[in-house]
Amino acid sequence: MYIRKTRLLTPGPTPLLPKALHAMMGSDIHHRTEEFRNIYRTVLADLKEVMGTSNDALILVASGTGAMEASVSNLFSPCDKVVVCCAGKFGERWVEIVKAHGLDAVVLSAEYGESIAPERVEQALRENPNARGVFVQASETSTGAAHDIQAMASIVKKTDAIFVIDAITGLGTQPLDIDGWGLDVVIGGSQKAFMIPPGLAFISLSPKAWAFSETAKLPRYYFNLKKEKKSAAGGESSWTPNTSLIIALAEALKYIKSIGMDKLIANAQMLAKATRAGVLTLGLELFAKHPAGSVTAVRAPKGMDSSAIVKEYHSRFASVIANGQGSMKGQIFRIAHLGYFDFPDLFAMMAELEIILHAQGYPVEFGKGVAAVQRVYADAAVAKEAVHA
Ligand SMILES: *Cc1c(COP(=O)(O)O)cnc(C)c1O
Repeated sequence: MYIRKTRLLTPGPTPLLPKALHAMMGSDIHHRTEEFRNIYRTVLADLKEVMGTSNDALILVASGTGAMEASVSNLFSPCDKVVVCCAGKFGERWVEIVKAHGLDAVVLSAEYGESIAPERVEQALRENPNARGVFVQASETSTGAAHDIQAMASIVKKTDAIFVIDAITGLGTQPLDIDGWGLDVVIGGSQKAFMIPPGLAFISLSPKAWAFSETAKLPRYYFNLKKEKKSAAGGESSWTPNTSLIIALAEALKYIKSIGMDKLIANAQMLAKATRAGVLTLGLELFAKHPAGSVTAVRAPKGMDSSAIVKEYHSRFASVIANGQGSMKGQIFRIAHLGYFDFPDLFAMMAELEIILHAQGYPVEFGKGVAAVQRVYADAAVAKEAVHA
């Protein structure tokens, strides 16, 4: 028998920032008070600052999908033509949401593990000049693939369509210059790089997007962005907010500001780079052609079910890592980097992986993957300033 500490190592929910977790003890607060309004105002301002935009940033009480749905119901009308990039389970979610709302979707699909080339978006917009919107994932968490948001934005910007980005695992893991690139709608979620539990969604809207809200005819009630913006101006949310999470978010944003959003992104990208080095050294293959900084999807060795790897992480070490979703279940496992992850987390994950692969009969020279991770750390960080609060 060995002690096993529970470690939450999935790409959402992610490890919690201790200070944010402790702050949730102060949840015995009423939301229609000046005390709470002050917290809410600060959180909204900090969110805007961390997202790096002059656009309005709003908070919705929902998981990330709520903000995805809100972007559709608040900005579009029935039968509007839209272009949807679909390269994984979350792209499929965009397709389902726009279809559920009666939009006319031109779907650009890619095999799991591939990304949609920006040229395909350009062509779709050329062939559908009446398209009102383009939907994409910055980081397709189900496959570990990134999209070239900057290149796509430069294409969409020249048209009358708005660019709607599910950046739920993109924020804090890859650069997203909302104002500079012209990202009309950017969506985030609390349980990803924001280091707090699930239950809050974030959405920023450009003036071009707000203009769409003036003519959009789809029905909406709970997610009413115009109403939410008006409430936010008074330091309140439209409905009863998730006070415990808002208080946690206040601490998390303070932390992210203290290290800098660019450093949080660099941290995720460095961990992703080290992970790639580690798994490739062990002879494994990456699943995504254009791997994201948020999560690394790794193919299980030939003849091995990735579910066995995920199961052994849990049974041997109480580490919770992600399997593949849908038809990718059993094929891949995913190592997360977004938010409150550090190199010691990765040293452990890689050492665990070596032991698990060995136990499953895959030839492993112990320490080889870990050494590759250590080398990336040493090259990047030993001589330079480390990321810490
Ligand atoms: C986590 C995630 C979502 C949101 O899922 P919820 O369960 O609603 O929070 C959406 N898109 C991507 C890319 C995600 O990683």
